[in-house]
Amino acid sequence: MRVVTAVDELRGAVLAYRADGQRIGFVPTMGYLHEGHLALVDESRRRTDRTVASIFVNPLQFGPSEDLSRYPRDLSRDTALLEARGVDLLYVPAETDMYPEPALVTVEPGALAAHWEGAVRPGHFRGVLTVVAKLFHRVAPDLACFGQKDIQQVTVVRRMVRDLDWAIELVVVPTVREADGLAMSSRNVYLKADQRRDALSLSRALRAVAQRFAEGVVGADALDQVARRTFAEYPAVVVDYVAIVDPDRLEPVVNAAPGTIVAVAARVGTTRLIDNLILGR
Ligand code: AMP
Repeated sequence: MRVVTAVDELRGAVLAYRADGQRIGFVPTMGYLHEGHLALVDESRRRTDRTVASIFVNPLQFGPSEDLSRYPRDLSRDTALLEARGVDLLYVPAETDMYPEPALVTVEPGALAAHWEGAVRPGHFRGVLTVVAKLFHRVAPDLACFGQKDIQQVTVVRRMVRDLDWAIELVVVPTVREADGLAMSSRNVYLKADQRRDALSLSRALRAVAQRFAEGVVGADALDQVARRTFAEYPAVVVDYVAIVDPDRLEPVVNAAPGTIVAVAARVGTTRLIDNLILGR
């Protein structure tokens, strides 16, 4: 695996792949990798000839009171994991290289960011889209893999690709979970033992909703209550939202149907966790 920090080297390597007629897959990450990230690598490798991964903790997508400075990092471990998983090229840009001066022009997500994560984290998706746009330009892949775990993120990115006419195929990879159901996340390292137990409330609430839906309950209010009843068993958990929404616009639905997204966000201590499922899958 080749590791590059300079954009010229990145472009040169990708051009050489392309000159060989190879199809290029891209996996953008913020590092501190786990099996969820590595599942994106596996998917890219299945679908393309060469896989480029990036590690960049993007300051533009963190709010002033968020965890940018304490976001976990371990570049040598990440490098070893990506190499073992068969990544061809790892791009690790410096912050001064990505943002030599403060960005004046950014990518606005519009109404898709008005709700849910976008409402709780103002400016977050502008930061995400801006860095994804820059990385898409720099890497110029044929395909890019994103996790279902961050479902609003991939929905917003998909819409950017469509509205801005990018010829990049997006692949959404299902959420990888710990054995007990907790969605893998770099932020799970923040959880102390009792919080780790409380963190299970998210996947449990989602499973309860999926079960009631499978039994024939479709009313969004009723399904919302099912999720909230599960959360109520965890008094230390603060629910930010339970969203039962359509997959394109992420607007609340009255009745759920196969394909409807159920997304939850909750705080366990100072750690914010998100999870979701797609009904009928
Ligand atoms: P991050 O490093 O948190 O920015 O995540 C990089 C990519 O990995 C994003 O596309 C995430 O959605 C994806 N990802 C994070 N956690 C998981 C998971 N548990 N399962 C699948 N994909 C994930």
